[in-house]
Amino acid sequence: MKNAALLLLTFFFVQLAYSQCPIIPRPQEYSQIDVKIPLDDQLTLDSNSMSFSTWEYLKSNLKQQTGIELVHDAENPYVQFGESPRLQVQGGPIPISHHYQISFNSNERKVYFETEESAFHAVNSMLQLIQKDGLKFYFQGSEVSDSPGFEWRGLHLDVSRHFYTVDEVKRFIDLMALYKFNTFHWHLTDDQGWRIEIKKYPKLADIGAFRDSTMMGHYSDEPRVFDTKKYGGFYTQDQIKEVIKYAADRFVNVVPEIELPGHSRAALAAYPELSCTGEQKGVPGTWGVFDDIYCAKQETIDFMKDVLAEVVELFPSQYIHVGGDEAPKTRWKKCPDCQKVIADNDLHDEHELQSYFIGQIDEFLTGKGKKLIGWDEILEGGLSPNAAVMSWRGMKGGIEAAKQKHEVVMTPTTYCYFDYYQSGHPSEPIAIGGFLPLEKVYRFNPVPKELNEDEQRYILGGQANLWTEYIASMEHLEYMTYPRALALAQTVWCRKKPSYDSFLSDFLTYQEDYLTRNKVNFARSIHQPILEITRKKNGINVHFKGVEENYHYTVSTKEIGGYSMNGGQAMGVEDTLFFERCYSGDKVKEIRTSVLDDSGGNSLVDRFLLHACLGAEIEMVTQPHPKYNNNGSLNLVDGVKGTQPWKGSQWLGFDTSYVEFIVDLGEVQDINLVNLGFLNQNGSWIYLPKLATIQVSKKSKWFLRKKYKHGIESEDCNITVGKKGRYVRVSIRAMDLIPIGMDGGGNTPWTFIDEIMIN
Ligand SMILES: [Zn+2]
Repeated sequence: MKNAALLLLTFFFVQLAYSQCPIIPRPQEYSQIDVKIPLDDQLTLDSNSMSFSTWEYLKSNLKQQTGIELVHDAENPYVQFGESPRLQVQGGPIPISHHYQISFNSNERKVYFETEESAFHAVNSMLQLIQKDGLKFYFQGSEVSDSPGFEWRGLHLDVSRHFYTVDEVKRFIDLMALYKFNTFHWHLTDDQGWRIEIKKYPKLADIGAFRDSTMMGHYSDEPRVFDTKKYGGFYTQDQIKEVIKYAADRFVNVVPEIELPGHSRAALAAYPELSCTGEQKGVPGTWGVFDDIYCAKQETIDFMKDVLAEVVELFPSQYIHVGGDEAPKTRWKKCPDCQKVIADNDLHDEHELQSYFIGQIDEFLTGKGKKLIGWDEILEGGLSPNAAVMSWRGMKGGIEAAKQKHEVVMTPTTYCYFDYYQSGHPSEPIAIGGFLPLEKVYRFNPVPKELNEDEQRYILGGQANLWTEYIASMEHLEYMTYPRALALAQTVWCRKKPSYDSFLSDFLTYQEDYLTRNKVNFARSIHQPILEITRKKNGINVHFKGVEENYHYTVSTKEIGGYSMNGGQAMGVEDTLFFERCYSGDKVKEIRTSVLDDSGGNSLVDRFLLHACLGAEIEMVTQPHPKYNNNGSLNLVDGVKGTQPWKGSQWLGFDTSYVEFIVDLGEVQDINLVNLGFLNQNGSWIYLPKLATIQVSKKSKWFLRKKYKHGIESEDCNITVGKKGRYVRVSIRAMDLIPIGMDGGGNTPWTFIDEIMIN
């Protein structure tokens, strides 16, 4: 009988496996029941059925999200909420724990859970099942059977580059809990600020927590500009305890990170005797990797152990993160103290010295009953016996560690670096670089195919990292985290996740409301229509395509500089506008299209510059580098000028010191002025070329001897021609090699071009 019931249940789930689901991460098994269970301004539950902290959590979230009051009723509760020691679950390859079940249908309103942690998950799923019909709230009828698929579901926050207050950190953890994340990786120390009070070394906070100024703009900007304002802050040990308690009430484990031996400038500003040179340097206000790191002498190792002794006392977490990334060996190579440690311990080189350093710390932490975790660089020079690895430079380090039977958390830059741009739209706020749209995050799978079943068990889960060089406020932090964290939440919850299309559909149907209900400043980047630009005779077609059928756009065009075209037009889910080539003299004609969604609150603006070679055919004599060849030669004449800072897709990039291409205007035209746009971002080895040369021809690609040469001194280069012609040959000469002493010295510089305009 029991088997028959189970079979029936399974059949039922299979039948409705693809119904829409208001809960993200979508439960392991979910089916929507076509019934709305009405909610009053009070919801009654037996408060004894869950822990006090879960009750308080539900009470405050329910109130804040809906205004509904949670009221204790042991006799006749509206929802039966109860513990069930062992639920009927079909086990997969991974032992299932923390299971819960929800049955909301016309006959019953029941929630069963296995552990206190699963009661908390059930509460969060219940909150997401609350929908609104006009002014009335209701539970969406649902059958849920659920449990987590991975044990490490993490988000990381860098509080060194920019400091976040205790309340802001709590808010960050609160939002994590809504989506069933369970690990908060707190990046507490780095070059730009030490953020945790250590009683034995008070100068770490007094001196190391504050810098005199902070870089403004992007790292690659030249020249660099500083705000000259004192900046900083730290958490007292009492505040740390408060955050840990707050997180524990939400079943979130807090993993502290104390960086060593690199990223230690803030600590060295406080205790310069721990560096190789002993030189007193301040806490830096620029980003990047610094040569000054901890000296590997015994004195530093003792200091580190003292610091970690206090950290271990504070944090109940089994894992303690010690960094280990980006530690240049420049100072160690020249330091007599470091070289002595190498000689005394028969070490081969400075990489083995780093392994030795980490090994000492590993031994110390293991002795305290803790586990060391570090970035994948800790593999270099040999992995310490008990160390777990956080794989960030792709998945390779993680694969290697799992094969060596070490625990692994996957957090590759390609899928998990939420400090990257989430769309290529010019309206995106300044970011470190890279490109990581929602859909790509969703493609992340923390378990690589290269591992066999036995090795796969070492993959604990996945995590996204929020490095905050360019994220200075809570509002911006939420923008970078959401909605991308929802895609990750699904990936680390469920080993067999639904398709991206169904995730996106659930997200648009339910979760934007839920994020709004929780007052999250989430990015609307996915609503930006996809722009496809194609060549047409005498111009370009711009095709706008929306993300979903029920979403309508209004594209209005506004002309700058007195040029008149479309006055504004309403568009459906997709539409095409034609922009015609035109001459406009000195002042380039510009069209702005703004896109408004149904709510009217979401405006994204694109700028198109109209000029006399818009959409013209181009023969690329020199090919761009395949990585920076988006849309081919059309990129140069698509009316969209590459923006600052460089976002990758908008520019054509060349790694050659000579670039040549020939523009065909289709017929003989006036060529008065040729405008070329270049990028100058030396931090990324992108330099202005030296010389641009223009030649014109009326009939064929045999060019007149007459050359119009122009030295390039700025990103905007205008060359006066004053001739008639059909073909325009552009040749650009860059430096052969970047001078030594400058960024990328000794290498061929990159040349980035966009766009060419003729008037
Ligand atoms: Zn040294």
